[in-house]
Amino acid sequence: MLSVLTVAAAKTAVSARREKRKTVKRETISFDSDDRITGDRPEHVHRNHNPDAKVKEWACNSPYCEDLTGPHPKDGGYEPIIQGREPWRGGNR
Ligand SMILES: [Zn+2]
Repeated sequence: MLSVLTVAAAKTAVSARREKRKTVKRETISFDSDDRITGDRPEHVHRNHNPDAKVKEWACNSPYCEDLTGPHPKDGGYEPIIQGREPWRGGNR
C-alpha cells in the first residue's frame, strides 16, 4: 500500500518565478515493504483488482513493467525487475 502526503501548499505562496505546475505540486510519498521502489526513477502504481488479494495497490518503479494489474509478489505475482539488476545482463556469471 502507499500513502501520499502533500507538502506542496506551503511552497506555492512563495514561488515568485512562474514554475511549471509539475514542480509546484510536489508530493512526498512514503513507501513500505510492499512497494518496489529502487533508486529515484519515476514510480507507477500497480493495482490488483482481485478482492482476495493481500496487497491490492502498491508502488513500483521498475522500468520493465507492462501489466500493472497483476498480483503482488505476496499474492504469487512476479517480482518486478530492478533496473541495473536485469537477469539478462549476465553480470554475475
Ligand atoms: Zn511496476
